[in-house]
Amino acid sequence: MKTIGMLGGMSWESTSTYYRLINEGIKTSLGGLHSAKIAMYSVDFDEIEKLQHADDWDATAAILTNAAQAVEAGGADFLLICTNTMHKVAPQIEAQIDIPLLHIADATAQQLQQDGIEKVGLLGTRFTMEQGFYKDRLTDKFGIEVVTPAQPERDSIHRVIYEELCLGKISESSRQQYLEIIDKLGAAGAEAVILGCTEIALLVEQKHTSTPLYDTTQLHCEAAVQFATTETATSIAMA
Ligand code: GLU
Repeated sequence: MKTIGMLGGMSWESTSTYYRLINEGIKTSLGGLHSAKIAMYSVDFDEIEKLQHADDWDATAAILTNAAQAVEAGGADFLLICTNTMHKVAPQIEAQIDIPLLHIADATAQQLQQDGIEKVGLLGTRFTMEQGFYKDRLTDKFGIEVVTPAQPERDSIHRVIYEELCLGKISESSRQQYLEIIDKLGAAGAEAVILGCTEIALLVEQKHTSTPLYDTTQLHCEAAVQFATTETATSIAMA
């Protein structure tokens, strides 16, 4: 079994889900008392969040590169960045390590492709919904068309992520708001919706809507378990 490297703490609310899902996946795959081999570096999200909103992405890249190198030195065979947003600096991190990165958008897109989804809605932070690093990868590398909510809705999705979900607050009114936005994406032609922020599944689950949801946390963990338990590198779609 390979050792899974994780950059966590963004936020720890979702990293805790990663830890559980990966260990459950290894147990299902290997049985008995098996558990995942993990080398994790969990950062202080307060530092990262301030730099994100100050638009100092180079500083976030420096912190995460240092963390990724520590995880590699700690024996990780491959790396997960346990947040969609921070994949914005994935190229800088990848350039400074010798282990492969299992990209969260690739893990998600592979499942969408397998399910024949060609047009998908995307929920996440403003950075993920508005910038190219995520949407363009889905479109350019996998041919999946991406639709995002209107700007006031993007603002409120972003606010709920940082002011509620990353602090462990689950609010029924925010859930209703998200569900209305998911419905609108469906009306705009999305065949499914990506929960493109690793905390969103804490708020919205498949049981709440008939629109198919693709939870990036779950898909990233499933891909990690598969890669950790197989010999080949074919499950990593390299950039
Ligand atoms: N975990 C979130 C994501 O998947 C947001 C927190 C962050 O900015 O990293 O994008």
